[in-house]
Amino acid sequence: MGSEESSEHNQLHFLVVPIGSPGHYIPIIDIAKLLAQHGVRVTIISTPVNTRRYGSVLDQAIQSGLPIRFIEFPFPYAEFGLPEGCESVDDLPNYALIPALTNAYNSLQQEVEHYLEKLDRMPDCIVADSFILWPGDTTKKFQIPRVIFDGMSCFTQMCNHVLYQSKVYENVGEDSFVVPGLPDRFELKRSQLPSALNPNLKYANDFFEKLRVSESEAYGVVVNSFEELEQAYVDEFKKVRGGKVWCIGPLSLCHNDESEKVQRGNKSSISKHECLEWLDSQESGSVIYVCLGSISRVEPEQLIELALGLESSNKPFIWVIRAGPNTKKVEQWIDEQGYAERTKDRALLIHGWAPQLLVLSHHAIGGFLTHSGWNSTFEGVSVGVPLITLPLFQEQFYNEKQIVQVLRIGVSVRDQKVGEHKSGMAIKSEDVKKAIEMVIEGGEDIRKRAKELGKMARNAVEEGGSSYRNMTRLIEDIKNYART
Ligand code: UDP
Repeated sequence: MGSEESSEHNQLHFLVVPIGSPGHYIPIIDIAKLLAQHGVRVTIISTPVNTRRYGSVLDQAIQSGLPIRFIEFPFPYAEFGLPEGCESVDDLPNYALIPALTNAYNSLQQEVEHYLEKLDRMPDCIVADSFILWPGDTTKKFQIPRVIFDGMSCFTQMCNHVLYQSKVYENVGEDSFVVPGLPDRFELKRSQLPSALNPNLKYANDFFEKLRVSESEAYGVVVNSFEELEQAYVDEFKKVRGGKVWCIGPLSLCHNDESEKVQRGNKSSISKHECLEWLDSQESGSVIYVCLGSISRVEPEQLIELALGLESSNKPFIWVIRAGPNTKKVEQWIDEQGYAERTKDRALLIHGWAPQLLVLSHHAIGGFLTHSGWNSTFEGVSVGVPLITLPLFQEQFYNEKQIVQVLRIGVSVRDQKVGEHKSGMAIKSEDVKKAIEMVIEGGEDIRKRAKELGKMARNAVEEGGSSYRNMTRLIEDIKNYART
């Protein structure tokens, strides 16, 4: 064996198993990069479209010698009734196909195991998205530890934990109830709970029960958070998980280079040059960036309210327009109403995928109107920008509570109640306008705290910071596991 081969042989080797949804895939690719930066050899289990889509952000890192590679397996589209080339939730023609997509990812077990059996040496650890169940069996079979990643904060983990244990939500009707047994007091409504806590979803319930068992059997959990952000919740979650929790974020801060920021997650619909030129022409802290994540499909009427609220705020803004099958209707409204023309002096409309990290890290950004997905939320936190929350589904309502009531770095659109509300979920232009004003004009405390957290976030990933140390601790734990 040559010396290079032998050192590769001695190097710790992690297998990374992602699932096809940007909110899951993007951060797990960042985890792969971080592991490699810490000297671990990483193999990413991939499929054809995903390699192209998510691989480009790592090209530079791989060329510079980081030990990362993609191993590609054919994706069983036809077998699961999925359109050819469709490997991601945001590419699905309709969301009734989500279970089929999840099942397709869960069907790759045999092929991956054949691949593993041919290796000289088994990987030392599998880092798997928690929605993929087979790594549970595979790691038992080959006696290697499994670390799971589900993209949520420790705050959310604990909300799910105490709610599942207490079942307080079961007999409350539509009234607000206090989430019990957590370090902070806050209320939720049943309609704001994620589907894992909805007893009426029969299919989902069976799946979520399997998920719970699989999660409880995992060796530990990596979290895209940093300890100082939510120490009390990290401590509680560690108690639940027997100490094996490693907060290693903000993951997004592993990309310092502008070209990496532009390529993260998908091909950007706007060039780096055009985007930066527009941002450079704006005053510091003046622009509202508006993006509702990668998979939300908001009704056109609601997006029109959002658009009118942005317009009436009289602030410069970037609006990322993407509403799945509803996009055409919104774009038609924009054309017919002359919206782009009316706002052209102070608005940048991005149709499709935005280079979110590039935008957020620009000094012109003064606020981020977000659907409160955890990645977006935390990307805002890590650059010290205050948030305007507009949660739509799943744990986004928990994230809103954490942002507005616990961290106090943002305001909620729906809490404004200026506009007349038909349903609790409706978006009203007056509320959007007021929330923007509260953050940009009024919210000095909010802006100050957001800035402080941004600073803490950057410190956490520096050498010696808490997230850096947690990454080292994870690697040491796996080394020790391999020795026993
Ligand atoms: N994202 C992006 N450009 C877009 C939309 C989304 O870069 O136009 C990224 C965003 O930076 C984040 C992820 O996609 O990393 C979305 O994850 P999040 O948890 O915020 O929400 P989800 O899309 O899962 O609802």
